[in-house]
Amino acid sequence: MAGMQRLQGRAALVTGASRGIGRAVAIRFAEEGAAVAVNYNGSRDAAEETLEQVREASRRAGGPVERHRIVQANVGEEAAAQAMVEETVGAWGRLDILVNNAGVQSEAPSHAYSIDEYRRILDVNLTGALVCSQAAIRHYLSRPGGGTIVNCSSVHQLIPKPGYIAYSISKGGLGNLTRTLALEYADRGIRVNAVAPGAIVTDINAAWKDDPKARAEVESHIPMGRAGSPEEMAAVFAFLASDEASYVTGQTLYACGGLTLFNEFRTNWAS
Ligand code: NAP
Repeated sequence: MAGMQRLQGRAALVTGASRGIGRAVAIRFAEEGAAVAVNYNGSRDAAEETLEQVREASRRAGGPVERHRIVQANVGEEAAAQAMVEETVGAWGRLDILVNNAGVQSEAPSHAYSIDEYRRILDVNLTGALVCSQAAIRHYLSRPGGGTIVNCSSVHQLIPKPGYIAYSISKGGLGNLTRTLALEYADRGIRVNAVAPGAIVTDINAAWKDDPKARAEVESHIPMGRAGSPEEMAAVFAFLASDEASYVTGQTLYACGGLTLFNEFRTNWAS
């Protein structure tokens, strides 16, 4: 909602913010008053564009325009991921919100899935989130007031994804990462939650997003009858990152147009 300023004075690091959902989260956080660090891995130009849009949003909101930053790092590399969080904390002297959003996927039959590729996907989607969380938590524990983490999971935390075994495992793992960290640090002012998007119009869905026929096929499986937008995801991240969710921890909020509601049961066929 334009005009809400729930993140004023907060400093937030968003991984994978050069494009897609991460970019929308970065912009939304700036609209709500936060200083934002835009992480990217390969897409420098796109990340610069995100930064420009973040600054613009911040200008409109009267936010900290000069404090936003770009940080390059492959979150799948332990040392780089850790250094990124530590440098961000060092530059600002604080971090209040970590969003583990960076994610990749690839398709192959499970019996032929390359274990090197499996390791690469797990490194980015799951281990990267853990390494960044560790560094953020060390900072949160070092000061009064704690901090918060919001992970980007997927409906495939719950729904199997045949042909995408590494992705499916990584998102299942993120569910337990979220719940375990939430429980371990609940008494020290640290909240850990996740957003689980359904089918969202971003580059990761290049296979159907601009092809009307393929998109209609995808949307025919979604109870609400349409794909979601990155901005609709960003609204959920902003809620979970804000004090409005001050009593919420360990939860995965499915923002999926009803994909997790067993669409096959919409009409009765079983009795
Ligand atoms: P996207 O448009 O393909 O964007 C992916 C982002 O992740 C890019 O900014 C990319 O940055 C970054 N990234 C990839 N590998 C990275 C790495 N090793 N280190 C740092 N950043 C890296 O995808 P998206 O749809 O926005 O996906 C974002 C998250 O949402 C992912 O975790 C994905 O699993 C999840 N999700 C998406 C959907 C959907 O339908 N779109 C559904 C469920 C869950 P560079 O280009 O700079 O490398």
